[in-house]
Amino acid sequence: MTSRRTFLKSAGLLTAAAALFDPAKIFARNGMGFSGAGVRSLSGKGEKKIVLEWCPYEAKMKHVFTISHSSRTSTPIVLTRITYDGYTGYGEAAMPPYLGETTNSAIEFLKKAKPELERFNDPFMIGDIMQDMDELTTHNCAAKASVDIALHDLVGKMIGQPWWKIWGFDPAHCPNNSFTVGLDTREVVLQKAKEASIYKVIKVKLGRTEEQDKMMINTIREVCNNTICVDANQGWKDKHYALDMINWLNTKNVNMIEQPMPVEMLEDIGWVTENSPLPIIADESCQRLTDVRKLHGYFTGINIKLMKCTGLHEAREMISLAEALGMKLMVGCMTETSVAISAASQIAPKTTWSDLDGNWLIANDCFTGSQVVDGRIVPSNDPGIGAKMNKGLNLQFVGA
Ligand code: MG
Repeated sequence: MTSRRTFLKSAGLLTAAAALFDPAKIFARNGMGFSGAGVRSLSGKGEKKIVLEWCPYEAKMKHVFTISHSSRTSTPIVLTRITYDGYTGYGEAAMPPYLGETTNSAIEFLKKAKPELERFNDPFMIGDIMQDMDELTTHNCAAKASVDIALHDLVGKMIGQPWWKIWGFDPAHCPNNSFTVGLDTREVVLQKAKEASIYKVIKVKLGRTEEQDKMMINTIREVCNNTICVDANQGWKDKHYALDMINWLNTKNVNMIEQPMPVEMLEDIGWVTENSPLPIIADESCQRLTDVRKLHGYFTGINIKLMKCTGLHEAREMISLAEALGMKLMVGCMTETSVAISAASQIAPKTTWSDLDGNWLIANDCFTGSQVVDGRIVPSNDPGIGAKMNKGLNLQFVGA
């Protein structure tokens, strides 16, 4: 039997060991190859109260951007900022018009979200907070993502580590990042393909007529033989036609097809996937966690976008479920600044395809963060989502 004296002695040792292995202290330790940037203890210098603010921002496109059902020259964005205990986290809602969200709808949501969020006095409660956010409204996925991303940025900064490291992902596993060439005339495609040939993977938007689609691919192939990912954006309406196109594309160094047919044609998509020589990935069909299981057996994999799935918290759950179901993963984006792109890059190590070029497509990115190095997307070593606001900017964040 252990004597009281021995017990107290070992208890003392255990307490000392517990202090040594305090996760906060381990995370805050600078060494073992950990990033030195932003490493601080969990005790900050400010008020321990969550404060949410926002700032509308218009992302201006470098080129007119055309996909199978629309064209545009800018994208409305709402940047968010959450402060707590002297730390600041940034988030973003990017809202291409087809998503059905606007600057006004995002701000309306954030006004509702603000008192709910500020009721929590612990930003680490991301799971509970995001459940509350989700219960506020049915839609507003991009606006919800802006809260989620800012929270992750804030909490990562408090811990002193980037989320890829907190989750235990290895950035060496990040895939090559694709650069998108939109639907256009032969002359413009030729020019864009020349520009894109420095990227290892080119993503091509198809889904119009057979003549236009084949012209896009043949024109790019006149310039380079880089791997191509094809996104049909639901543009093919017949399963036999879709399979014929995919078989033709398979002879052109294409390695994946995204959303070949409309969302409502799920049975036909399942037939295409079964017969396709190339993996078929769900984009428009896969919005949130609850979609993943429904798509199993119909698609080879899913394209996760933070603006569709309400942010990193749910994205992390989608990854686990898709992996458990044996489905492949892709990470994609909207036209976004480096805030949302850097957030999405945190999950890139778990994916086979990375399509995080939204920040390259805009002329006025206001942050820097994840980089493309030798063709691969590389998340920053900086804590949180690893995005830093460009110097000299005077963005006005308001909370009312
Ligand atoms: Mg897509």
